[in-house]
Amino acid sequence: MTRGRVGLRIDGDEGSPWARNLLLDVGRALARRKRGLNVPDDHAWLQIECRRGEVEVATMAAIADDAMHVLTKALEIEVSQVRPCRVIVDEGPSSVVDRVIRISSQPRAGYRRDDWLELLFSHELTHLLVRDAWGVGPVLWWEGLAVHLGDDRIRTRLFGHSYHAYCRALDHLGGLLPLEPLLRASTFYRRRADLRVDLQAGSFCGFLLETLGPQCLRAFLTDYRRPTRAEPGVRLDPITKQHLGDDFVGLCEGWVRFLRALPCEPVLVDRLRTRTLGLECDRSEHCDFCFAPRSSDRECPCPDDATGRT
Ligand SMILES: [Zn+2]
Ligand SMILES: [Zn+2]
Repeated sequence: MTRGRVGLRIDGDEGSPWARNLLLDVGRALARRKRGLNVPDDHAWLQIECRRGEVEVATMAAIADDAMHVLTKALEIEVSQVRPCRVIVDEGPSSVVDRVIRISSQPRAGYRRDDWLELLFSHELTHLLVRDAWGVGPVLWWEGLAVHLGDDRIRTRLFGHSYHAYCRALDHLGGLLPLEPLLRASTFYRRRADLRVDLQAGSFCGFLLETLGPQCLRAFLTDYRRPTRAEPGVRLDPITKQHLGDDFVGLCEGWVRFLRALPCEPVLVDRLRTRTLGLECDRSEHCDFCFAPRSSDRECPCPDDATGRT
């Protein structure tokens, strides 16, 4: 596995003293994050633009380098196959569209900014890596893998409870949502204000990744044919059986059995017992085909082969 490499493209002049100083800053930022110096030589994959003055390009490059290393390893994707992408740190919502990742520089309350940037970037980079190397699956996989390797991974490190542990506690309380409705992008995003949607999608995909390994998921997503306007239903079988070893119902049951073998954490049971779940306001509509937000009731204008986003 090739180590992730940060490549910075700076105004088309990478040999300038200013650019060299910036690379030294990247090295210092990496060292601060207790990682080895890893400046680019053969594979430049990233162009970073920080539009908010308070985030240094060097810091963002170090975070990106770290995330690239961890994610390509977890997904068994060869770094040298990753095509260059652009990262814009700005205000506003995070997204990946084509080869541009946008992340918000404003941390949510309770997060240090570096952790927050790492979480958002890991989430969006997972989308990009999976989309380019494997393909876009049903939204439960599209968001679930990104939530598992982004949000869940960082939050478990910071706060000590994995999304599996949260779902174990939800199961104890009889509060797990059925996963089947979350196969449709419009339903998934409309209900996403309910924290269980992300917790369960992340835990379910984490379960598949941990028990089957990335190559089974790759084969499944590569073979998956996305719904079209002519055939709008999400069709999983027979490829779930073929690549993941069971039909969707069986996979959901396997996930719950996996959760029940984990210890139940009383602190999470108490925390979730006092939350009122399922009463959140619906969010805006998203397109079932390209997953993008829709601004009106009109049909989304995307072609049937539109790439996934958000
Ligand atoms: Zn669309
Ligand atoms: Zn996402």
